[in-house]
Amino acid sequence: MQIRLARYSGFCFGVRRAIQLAMDAVQKGEEVYSLGELIHNPQFVQELRAKGLRVASAAQELHNSVVIIRSHGISKEEYNVLVKQGNTIIDATCPYVSKTHDLIKQANAEGYPVIILGDPCHPEVIGMKSYGNSDTVVVSPNEELAPVMAKRLCVISQTTQKIEHLINLVSSLLPKVMDLKVHNTICLATGQRQIAGAELAKESDIMVVIGGKHSSNTKMLARLCSEYCPTIHIETGAELTPEIFVDKARIGLCAGASTPEAQIVEVYNKIMKINGEECPATGIQNIPLFKEESC
Ligand code: SF4
Repeated sequence: MQIRLARYSGFCFGVRRAIQLAMDAVQKGEEVYSLGELIHNPQFVQELRAKGLRVASAAQELHNSVVIIRSHGISKEEYNVLVKQGNTIIDATCPYVSKTHDLIKQANAEGYPVIILGDPCHPEVIGMKSYGNSDTVVVSPNEELAPVMAKRLCVISQTTQKIEHLINLVSSLLPKVMDLKVHNTICLATGQRQIAGAELAKESDIMVVIGGKHSSNTKMLARLCSEYCPTIHIETGAELTPEIFVDKARIGLCAGASTPEAQIVEVYNKIMKINGEECPATGIQNIPLFKEESC
């Protein structure tokens, strides 16, 4: 059995930064709340709770507290509530997400109605929409568009979308809109991870995608890999059984942007154990990396 890990697996820059900011605040001995779970990874959120980070589910619950805004960002309305209620805000909104807020405001100021490509229920997209005017709409990937009457439009994407979805949306709008402005706001970390995952999936008999079941970018990664080979999406090694690997010689591993290294190592060691190998990896550097030139 050959087990290989896709490049760029695990925490992205924005998630790493949010965790660091939260831990710095907790270590100062302050009572720190995150507004919503800091990352979409239940096992890691549990570890953060044990270290003292509390979770609030709504801005209205928080008064005169230290509050960390997670990398997805929050809506303008939630931000205003936090300020009004006397909270000290640590803003860990990923700079790539903040950039989408600025672009939406700028497009509106220039007279462009905005179409956001993304999952309308995802907190990042809810936050993005709040920075637009009343003409701002969210379109899900591959959603049938209502007839477009606008002369000018601006398209902005959720940072974790697949580039193909953005290309499809722009292609469908181009024949209908004379003045179409497009900002490719899909973040580099997402694009690199998706390319690396797909390249490995093409060379694997099965892909094991590791990350929170509610993590948007991990789900996207699993969907993408499943286009090339059988794929399973798991949170921990406990979900793996020997039957999964029957007749599978080439195992590919990849992980979402909110998956800690320790979880990747744990899954790798579980597969090694299933394969009867006795040398567990102690760190991600011990896992063979799939190096594809095009990544
Ligand atoms: S996936 Fe990209 S946009 Fe999202 S937090 Fe990570 S670096 Fe930032």
